[in-house]
Amino acid sequence: AFSGEAGDDPLLARRLANMGAAAVLFYDKPVEMVSGQGAWMTDRSGATYLDFYNNVPSLGHCHGAVVEAVRDQIGRLNINSRYMVEIVDRYMEALKATLPSDLSNVVLSCTGSEANDLALRLAEVWTGRRGFVVTQTAYHGNTAATTEISPSAYKKGGGSPRIRTVPAPDPAVYGEDLAGGFAKAVAEAAADLEASGHGFAGMIWDSIFSSDGVHADPQGFLKAAEGAVHAAGGLLIADEVQPGFGRTGVMWGFERHGLAPDIVTTGKPMGNGFPMAGTMTRPEILSRFVEEFGYFNTFGANPVAAAAGLAVVETLRSEGLIARCAAAGATLKAELEALAARDPRIAAVRGAGLFLGVSLGREDAPDGALVRAVLAGLGRRRVLIGAAGRYGETLKLRPPLILSDAEIDHFVQALADTLAETP
Ligand code: PMP
Repeated sequence: AFSGEAGDDPLLARRLANMGAAAVLFYDKPVEMVSGQGAWMTDRSGATYLDFYNNVPSLGHCHGAVVEAVRDQIGRLNINSRYMVEIVDRYMEALKATLPSDLSNVVLSCTGSEANDLALRLAEVWTGRRGFVVTQTAYHGNTAATTEISPSAYKKGGGSPRIRTVPAPDPAVYGEDLAGGFAKAVAEAAADLEASGHGFAGMIWDSIFSSDGVHADPQGFLKAAEGAVHAAGGLLIADEVQPGFGRTGVMWGFERHGLAPDIVTTGKPMGNGFPMAGTMTRPEILSRFVEEFGYFNTFGANPVAAAAGLAVVETLRSEGLIARCAAAGATLKAELEALAARDPRIAAVRGAGLFLGVSLGREDAPDGALVRAVLAGLGRRRVLIGAAGRYGETLKLRPPLILSDAEIDHFVQALADTLAETP
């Protein structure tokens, strides 16, 4: 990670002067990127980087369909949702066609944090209660309320009195009966919120458990926990900011588990880089909230975002990218498993579609330091990935859905070379 000294890099000095302590940069020598195409980015020296980190440009960087749609609409009209613009409704209809039919109301906003913030408020008004259950290392956003439901954002520990955490659904924690164990933990946390006087308003999870270290299997294990949430009178909020839009080999992460969430939130890949997010729910849940609070989002539901979002949904379909993601993900996972069979430092390969986690160290001795060394080694090979998990022990892989077999081979070779040179 970057240490905070600008050294002889003038742009880095400017970045530090401009962003101050909030500057967060990758690598000990942060990279200046100038362009992107497909799965690749190019830096100021002309060197290219394979982007296995970024699940925002899911169709690939600067996908032509999105670029053209945005260019066309921004040259035509860009206003707020107090006026009708047909493309906004066309977009919401295209989005709804991919969702369970009862989630027929859409509130568009600009970031996943806003989408989740509204989801919390909907659940609070609907249930008349304020307590939420989340997983131990979850991340759901940066507003005051979404920070409360993001234990991973608390650098000095602590947390919010109205939040209870449960360990992520990891067989290493819950043992054989993952579904039952996780559901029991959720039920106990909900009961504790009830006993504490906050009451249980609901549970929010990201069904791939991205910050918790990627926990995807077995498919369907979350069904029991969904039952526990509903039995305790809470709403289930599916945070699809990470798993949504085809990333796990199906359109929505909750589909893999056969869930029927009360609220779905989306962001990140929704506009392939154009900022946009959404909160989808049943009309009665939204109506009750609107009886109590006004809700207006200046930039939410703007027609340029709608144009970007429509291009994403249409391209997923026209290019067959969800099936491509499932196939590419299976190939990548098999190659990583083959690598794991040769290298005992790889404890597990987990995930679904093109959202994979590779844990390093032993099951009982997670090795965050090794992950950091591998991240740096891959960085030197100009291959970009991230880390996740409670101890930062998991390599987090989220390449674009258009990934080619040659790019998979390039990545696996770079990882094998990096592991070989890392003691
Ligand atoms: N939910 C999840 C699961 C996320 O990973 C993130 C962002 N990392 C958010 C919500 C917040 O999204 P945003 O940064 O767009 O506010």
